[in-house]
Amino acid sequence: MNRNDECWCGSGKKYKKCHEAFDERIKEMKFDFMRGQVRPPRKLINNAADIAAVRAAGVVNDGALDLAAGMMRPGVNTESIDDAIADYLTAKGAVSADKGFEGYPKNTCISINDVVCHGIPSKKTILKEGDIVNVDITTKYNGYFADASRMYIVGGHADANAERLVRVSRECMELGIAAAKPWHFLGDIGAACGTHARENGYSVVTDLGGHGVGKGFHMEPFVPHTGQPDTGMLLVPGMILTVEPMINEGTYKVTVDKKDGWTVRTKDKKLSAQWENTILITETGVEILSS
Ligand SMILES: [Zn+2]
Repeated sequence: MNRNDECWCGSGKKYKKCHEAFDERIKEMKFDFMRGQVRPPRKLINNAADIAAVRAAGVVNDGALDLAAGMMRPGVNTESIDDAIADYLTAKGAVSADKGFEGYPKNTCISINDVVCHGIPSKKTILKEGDIVNVDITTKYNGYFADASRMYIVGGHADANAERLVRVSRECMELGIAAAKPWHFLGDIGAACGTHARENGYSVVTDLGGHGVGKGFHMEPFVPHTGQPDTGMLLVPGMILTVEPMINEGTYKVTVDKKDGWTVRTKDKKLSAQWENTILITETGVEILSS
């Protein structure tokens, strides 16, 4: 690429004033392919306009999760929460990325107690005092995606073991995000999540993980929540991904509901909890785009 050409990232700037130094830095790095260290493909690098668009989607997504917080009362059915969120997204000029994704029927995933993820909202699923509930929403806004989930405790109190799981799973996410650093490797995130989970006597779901997000709903790389530091894809400024550890009280093994094809449960029926943020890798660390 000529130094005076427009940069490949689509910024409209000259290459020499945009990603030339970035490309030089990657070229000079030694990748340990035996440890799975790989260069990030250019399609995963977001320019300033892309980032602003995902940030805007994230503001809407955060608002939807705030709305869910106000509905976590005993007796509320999960379809009514899904409906309220769909209305909110419509009012903001946004849509749920979940609805219709591989045939998924609803706008959100609402996963209670032993449901790990992909719980389908239903009139028949009624919140009870002390349930631990994950609401997961991906907003598509002006063609860009932001994805986050939070845990809620119905009625504000749960059994001590459930409250501890909810707290530790959040800490796992936070430690994973703190480990995400530019010019370091993806495996650092999972190593931090997994270490904290195991230190607390919990397991980490490995069948599902985080993912690149932004210009698409599910992009490269797959983000594992356990594993070894200094492995996997190089993290560089402009990458956007989710960190979303699913932490189980008992076994890490999960099953998928045979009837609906979506609902993921712990194999031993013990509790599971999950928090998820969409993060941007910056020059100096991370920026949280949806939480
Ligand atoms: Zn550029």
